[in-house]
Amino acid sequence: MNLRLQGIGMTSRRTRERMVRRLEEHGIGNAAVLQVMLETPRHIFVEDAFASRAYEDTALPIGFNQTISQPYIVARMTELLLDKGPLDKALEIGTGSGYQTAVLAQLAKRVYSVERIYPLQQRARQCLNDLRLRNVRLKHADGSWGWEEYAPYDGILVTAAADTLPEPLLEQLARHGVMVIPVGNGRSQVLQRVTRSEIGFQVEAIEPVSFVPLLPGVL
Ligand code: SAH
Repeated sequence: MNLRLQGIGMTSRRTRERMVRRLEEHGIGNAAVLQVMLETPRHIFVEDAFASRAYEDTALPIGFNQTISQPYIVARMTELLLDKGPLDKALEIGTGSGYQTAVLAQLAKRVYSVERIYPLQQRARQCLNDLRLRNVRLKHADGSWGWEEYAPYDGILVTAAADTLPEPLLEQLARHGVMVIPVGNGRSQVLQRVTRSEIGFQVEAIEPVSFVPLLPGVL
């Protein structure tokens, strides 16, 4: 493995093992999710200046006023998405650094991810290539509209907070599909899990969260 991926000191596998132990202590129980987060070098997804802090349980800046989600949140959202069975097609809105994308790509057969800020998408693409994750497709667009072409999706994961559940995303959810999405405005957001069935959509409130907003248009 190349040295950048492998890491040393604060970016080594040992440090990742400690991160995974903390996730377990905070209630993450899905063994497959924990294993993938143990294997995935989060430090390559953050700016060099923050690499030594990559395995702290905190969000970090990735430029353009955006952040890479905190490891606990990545683990929690992924576990909520996988709860009801394995994923064939997953859609992510808000590629950002690409770290959540990389985690998903190792747990779903195919991953589609949409990002509105082009330079972030380009950086994410490079990292995903470095990790040789080939089952991912990226699109530069406003993800509030989903990605019609490959719908329906068994799982949809939104990594920016929406005021309300975006209608196109509900439409692109497969029957028995699951969407995990933060809903609310700046100060008060709740992580929701939406499950689709024959009779409609069931919504569960999971826990309070703090995400950057889902914004319209592209940059
Ligand atoms: N999962 C990412 C989270 C990044 S923060 C990570 O862990 O790195 C949320 C991301 O959502 C930002 O990159 C932001 O640009 C993006 N975003 C916000 N609104 C969006 C929209 N309408 N469509 C696509 N991406 C959006």
